[in-house]
Amino acid sequence: MGSPPSGFIIASESLDSREFKPLNPEDFRDKAHKAVDFIADYYKNVENYPVLSQVQPGFLKNRLSETPPDMPESFDTILRDVQNDIIPGITHWLSPNFFAYFPASVSTAAFVGEMLCTCFNTVGFNWVASPAATELEMVVMDWLATMLHLPKSFMFSGSGGGVLQSTTTESCLCTLVAARDRVLNEIGIGHIGKLVVYGSDQTHSMFKKVCKLAGIDPKNIRAIPTRVEDEFSLSPSILRKVIQADVEQGLVPLYLCVTIGTTSTTAVDPIKDLAEVANKNNMWVHIDGAYGGNACICPEYRHFLDGVEKVDSLSLSPHKWLLSYAECCCLWMKNPDLIVNALRTNPEYLRNKHSESDSVVSYKDWQVGTARRFKSLRLWFMLRSYGVQNLQKHIRTDVQMAITFERLVKSDVKFEVVTPRRFALVCFRLKQLNGFDTELLNKKLLERVNSTGRVYLTHTAVGGIYMLRFVVGATLTEERHVINAWEVIKEMANTMVHEYES
Ligand SMILES: *Cc1c(COP(=O)(O)O)cnc(C)c1O
Repeated sequence: MGSPPSGFIIASESLDSREFKPLNPEDFRDKAHKAVDFIADYYKNVENYPVLSQVQPGFLKNRLSETPPDMPESFDTILRDVQNDIIPGITHWLSPNFFAYFPASVSTAAFVGEMLCTCFNTVGFNWVASPAATELEMVVMDWLATMLHLPKSFMFSGSGGGVLQSTTTESCLCTLVAARDRVLNEIGIGHIGKLVVYGSDQTHSMFKKVCKLAGIDPKNIRAIPTRVEDEFSLSPSILRKVIQADVEQGLVPLYLCVTIGTTSTTAVDPIKDLAEVANKNNMWVHIDGAYGGNACICPEYRHFLDGVEKVDSLSLSPHKWLLSYAECCCLWMKNPDLIVNALRTNPEYLRNKHSESDSVVSYKDWQVGTARRFKSLRLWFMLRSYGVQNLQKHIRTDVQMAITFERLVKSDVKFEVVTPRRFALVCFRLKQLNGFDTELLNKKLLERVNSTGRVYLTHTAVGGIYMLRFVVGATLTEERHVINAWEVIKEMANTMVHEYES
């Protein structure tokens, strides 16, 4: 062995290693209490920070030391640096003035569930690695399925089951691989190049990524164009024609991804009619309800799921609208065996009598990774602390606030609502002004509004129309924030109008 590079400090010379106790309960209590105080203060003050971080790329490198400390620093110093150095570089998703993308919704109950998840730090890849982790997840998935009035065929209490994935991407990937292997087992692995997958031009961009990962030939990914007259939803008759053309070419239709609440404009694909087309061709149908699916816990939105009994799988992300923190995506399947057949591993070091007997669920075979966190605790705390009624109320309150915003937009002749509002997203834009390019006008408006730091919204373009997206859903948002946001938008727009008219 050579000598260490110069400047390398041998720890044992400078610190008594016997005093290093990274998990001392009293020390934990002291620091965690401080952290909780810090967090509660953050929630109180978050409204006062610029929503969109105003820093420039590389800002942090100049603020922090180039090397890690050799000796311990005090917890207070580190927390102080979070306040001074980190917070300026945060875009505050928790701000009540955050109306961008789809929201990342949070709650006290889910936070506490997350604390306990982190506390136990179980790695529940199979049942024995923490029986409660597997079984609570099964219970919670069935609870949520009940709230959505899913058929028993998607529940453990019936013949199906659910699993917590981190993302829609993973839900889509695992089901696509299950569908792929089911068909390849019949037609032979050499025919993978014949498999065709279908979505619309409004399907989330993750779908292409997923198809690549699953080995689908990029030539066989159909992004079927949607039309204004269908409100940008996928048309069953066009789908039928596209599939027919593929079949005539000797290709094999494999998988259809339909969406409840597209990311650009919350368009809803007609599940029942699309599933009927797909069923005739023995395809796997997956519903991506990442955002809009959450609303289906309310009876008035449940009709969007009509026809769900005809599909194979459904995913939605409570982290987008059901108060439960990032990386929480629920996936239900009618036939979990197909996913397990595709993804099962069986190494010697994980063998045990329960798994061997097939009497228990091994969630490692329902997902990409092996390790997994005890995330169902979050949902369990959330569901129990609030009850279904409050969660329905939460959805409705957000929708009501979006309706308020929509009304304000419509009350101003300079503006128009571009696509129909279905959930808590309003797509709108400044109308034509003195022959100026409407797209450019709206881009400028967005930039000006966001640079105030007082609100944050984003944009999209559908059917060649550039529009602004305003989504209500941050947990702390109240009606006054929505009204204030409109004031900011109106103020910026009026300034621009004066500039352009003079
Ligand atoms: C947000 C969103 C996604 C993205 O999912 P990930 O969880 O980031 O993989 C997928 N589909 C829709 C409709 C979305 O709105």
